Amino acid sequence: MVIVMSESAGVCDIESICTRIKEMGYGVNVSRGVEKTIIGVIGAKDEHKLILAQQLESLPYVEKVIPILKPYKLASREWKQEKTRINVKGVVIGGDEVVVMAGPCAVENEENIMLTARAVKAANAKILRGGAFKPRTSPYSFQGLGEEGLKLLYYAGKEVNLPIVTEVLDPRDVELVSQYTDILQIGARNMTNFPLLTEVGQTRLPVLLKRGLSSTIEEFLLAAEYIMSRGNHQVILCERGIRTFEQATRNTLDISAVPFIHELSHLPIIVDPSHGTGRWQLVPSMAKAAVAAGADGLIIEVHPDPAKALSDGAQSLNIPTFQNLMIELAKVAEAVGRKI
Ligand code: PEP
Ligand code: MN
Repeated sequence: MVIVMSESAGVCDIESICTRIKEMGYGVNVSRGVEKTIIGVIGAKDEHKLILAQQLESLPYVEKVIPILKPYKLASREWKQEKTRINVKGVVIGGDEVVVMAGPCAVENEENIMLTARAVKAANAKILRGGAFKPRTSPYSFQGLGEEGLKLLYYAGKEVNLPIVTEVLDPRDVELVSQYTDILQIGARNMTNFPLLTEVGQTRLPVLLKRGLSSTIEEFLLAAEYIMSRGNHQVILCERGIRTFEQATRNTLDISAVPFIHELSHLPIIVDPSHGTGRWQLVPSMAKAAVAAGADGLIIEVHPDPAKALSDGAQSLNIPTFQNLMIELAKVAEAVGRKI
């Protein structure tokens, strides 16, 4: 439940109500707005909520108490009505602009990452992606360059002045990856790796959280809640397709998740049409559909020579195709009142 403090509530009032809630055995999350302070009560059992709400509402410095019925709280719209904007070195995700993140599935070598970084920057991408720790289905597939890959990505981002996003697979690597990256990516296979979610929740870096391969929207938002409940509220959700009976595409891209998540949550939601389809030929159409549906951004795999890529070549755009797509995306964005 959320307690909205009245405008006249002072620091002492806020402190005293927090103490009272803690004494009752609940967690507290204070969010100070320009005019009003909102206090979240975490962990109140359903049967206690009504009594607690009545008690708190009778306090003079409490304007109202809103019960949150959804299992996720901090991630819900009831908790926070205005959209969350996440600022990554001046690039705002969740604002008017549709933020395009692009780069190879995996960082393979210095030449390729530099070339791709320059090309995606020139085409107006705002964030550079690249995997250094790769969650491959087969243990015999290329697993990524590890720290060497992080360094190459870091220098490529620095060279072209783009923030970077890269995946962290293991809670033990969160500290290492955080030293290089601007955004920590949690891959689809790790969406329910609760120790990993808890660990990234303890950092203060934005987290790009991908929807699990067979996760419902509610489970997806509960995974975000794990991160937020540790104090890190900078979560960017990413729809990347789910497993269905359909075999023609790698996954079934659930574009309806975009407007639905906007309804349920204040967190930004971006779309990954590369993993969502598994086929580069389908990526441009799905990218445009995602922008039309209101996505806050896209994450797209781009490789200078997809036929030779060490991972996900079949779904990677080559550079000219990416450049063309960016031109078309700008038109779609304009048509729906956004910018690229
Ligand atoms: C990736 O972004 O390269 C990746 C492995 O994505 P996902 O976790 O969505 O499969
Ligand atoms: Mn990939």
